[in-house]
Amino acid sequence: MTQKMKSVFGPLSSRRLGRSLGVDLLPFKTCSLNCVYCECGATTNLTTERGDFYPASRVLEELEEFFAKHVNIDYITFSGMGEPTLHTGIGEVIRGVKAKHPDVKICLITNATLLGDPQVQREVEGIDLVMPSLDGSNEEEFRRVDRPAPGVTFEGVVNALKSFRAANPVEMWLEVFIVPGINDTPESLERFVKLLREIAPDQVQINSLDRPGTESWVEIPSRERLEEIKSVFEGCGRPVTIISRKVAMPDNQPRGAV
Ligand code: SF4
Repeated sequence: MTQKMKSVFGPLSSRRLGRSLGVDLLPFKTCSLNCVYCECGATTNLTTERGDFYPASRVLEELEEFFAKHVNIDYITFSGMGEPTLHTGIGEVIRGVKAKHPDVKICLITNATLLGDPQVQREVEGIDLVMPSLDGSNEEEFRRVDRPAPGVTFEGVVNALKSFRAANPVEMWLEVFIVPGINDTPESLERFVKLLREIAPDQVQINSLDRPGTESWVEIPSRERLEEIKSVFEGCGRPVTIISRKVAMPDNQPRGAV
């Protein structure tokens, strides 16, 4: 059964998360980045300003409507058409779910831009899995791939990832989205290895374009190229997997903040 409500959608069958019930906390399309590969389209509200975009109480009501149907799920996943941590009610939703359904796992898919904020860190304390992104190995690549809101920097995102890692022992799967010609030169890959070693996620996941992104010039790397990149990334000492759907099993979720 799949259903679409105002904020809750799914459950969707996800290769990484099993049966995942999505929660989209933001109006289209509110994000702190405007990634060239985003499958949701261009960001229309490019911002780092957090807000109460949709009442947390209403999100919890929608979730209870879903749970009343007794449909089994593996995860509730914060994802969708923007950056979930921009919503100031995310902590209330997490606490509300865990209070009534302590066995339900919660995953946060995030672009990591706000993960260094101690307030955000406190709000998401109850999650079971975090899946942040790191799409550049330096400032130039970050700006070309992710086109951030004013004030968001590569250094800030790297520091946010390290800070979050230190503050919260939750499982972290760090995604690197490969945009051929921008962030896959030998020098880029070596810089990524150093960063991955420093951040030390539980897993590194390599992704690439599956469906049309915001910019039509974004290319899809070959399987061989992704395997080469995987081999280099394994130098960071963490498990590395290729999750690109063009070269792996289908996954029904769009690549917005997911
Ligand atoms: S891919 Fe995610 S972080 Fe990038 S613009 Fe889309 S929603 Fe925002």
